[in-house]
Amino acid sequence: MEFETVIGIETHVQLRTRTKLFCGCEARFGAPPNSLVCPVCLGHPGVLPVLNREAFELGLRTALALDCEIAPFTKFDRKNYFYPDLPKNYQISQYDLPFSREGRVPIDGKTVGIIRVHLEEDAGKLIHEENGTRSFVDLNRAGIPLVEIVTKPDLRSSEEAAQYLVELKSILEYTGVSDCDLEKGELRCDINLSVRPKGTTALGVKTEIKNLNSFRFAKAAIEYETRRQIAAIEAGETLRQETRSYDADRNVTEVMRTKEQAHDYRYFPEPDLPPIRVSPEWIERVRASLPELPARKRARLVREYGLSEYDARVLTGSREMGDFFDRAGRIHKPKAVANWLANEVNKILNEKKLDLSASKLTPDGLVGLIRLVEAGTITGATGKEVLGELVVSGGSAQAIVESRGLAQVRDAGALEAAAAKVIAANPKAVGDFRGGKEATLQFLIGQVMREMKGRANPKGVEDSLRKLLGPSP
Ligand code: ZN
Ligand code: MN
Repeated sequence: MEFETVIGIETHVQLRTRTKLFCGCEARFGAPPNSLVCPVCLGHPGVLPVLNREAFELGLRTALALDCEIAPFTKFDRKNYFYPDLPKNYQISQYDLPFSREGRVPIDGKTVGIIRVHLEEDAGKLIHEENGTRSFVDLNRAGIPLVEIVTKPDLRSSEEAAQYLVELKSILEYTGVSDCDLEKGELRCDINLSVRPKGTTALGVKTEIKNLNSFRFAKAAIEYETRRQIAAIEAGETLRQETRSYDADRNVTEVMRTKEQAHDYRYFPEPDLPPIRVSPEWIERVRASLPELPARKRARLVREYGLSEYDARVLTGSREMGDFFDRAGRIHKPKAVANWLANEVNKILNEKKLDLSASKLTPDGLVGLIRLVEAGTITGATGKEVLGELVVSGGSAQAIVESRGLAQVRDAGALEAAAAKVIAANPKAVGDFRGGKEATLQFLIGQVMREMKGRANPKGVEDSLRKLLGPSP
């Protein structure tokens, strides 16, 4: 029997605010443990939360960028559970009246439905002593604003899930609502997954894989869990609804708790926060401030510059790349800039495992290089070499070409000297050419280019070879 995987994803994203969601403590990563705390985020008795307006606006911005409807009336609720990283013993979240619903994220060839985006506070962080018996709690993270983004069960494979996550991250970065630094845990996802016989519509028993903070792990966890569920069904076992965790070292998912052990969160309205009315004017003001989003930008690049879908995807893959393209494209032909960025620059960044932001390449630097190649001052091959240096060390292409003597050689004397040397060293190829094998000329041109370390003017090389070899028969 053939099976189909049905996947929905819940993503928690830390919003980029200066302070926490309900108190004035700084929302910052990497400070000494428990240094960014106050009675409110420590959950002391008698304190009152006050909503961070900036966080709410970033929430609106997120939801609008995901094409959600915004609710005119919304409130916060208490989600009750006990855990050592949660000092109040409840999380302030949103239950039945989230501030947004019904959005969508475009991926290759389909649209992923968004059920809702709501706001809630983050919990603290437990640090378990390595090889020890003690655990510590750091509450700096407690109270940092999160948006929780919940998809419909629209995804059908690990590839689609990865595409969704990449697109989501890119939208969040473009809108500036979050830095989405996965290593700092700023974006974490839970995967809901079930399988069913292909062609049927009823949903199978689902499991939830908790807290994945890497897209690669998310993909691997989906693939493992799909295999595990199919194998269980084929072996005649009954699947249980349960929460699982993914162990990256062993590439397996394991049971955390079963449905019988599921929490009853006893949600009730947060009595210390008034409900919020969101006016149409407020919504329109936030909507008007959104930048061009990746999908639209991609379509524009394909339409305006004739780029391939793939190249357009590379150029919109991160906000930095998109901004870099826009800046360089204003000072030089966008089509040429796009080709260099999507191909050569992207290749070098991958080779050097660098992000564009960590590289020293500037829009001016890239445009300067492209101009040197277009003017024929340097060859394409030299251009790639200079680009490698611009990426690592910065500076201007002109200066690198001058200081290293990389300019293209057009001088007929120098080219003929190299051609003569190659002719003398390759009597067989020369004989073949004179015997009528025109294609051999390409080999000889290659040898001269090598002799001149890729800096010779290709047309000049061909001319000098033809001159010395005599007319082809
Ligand atoms: Zn605080
Ligand atoms: Mn949540």
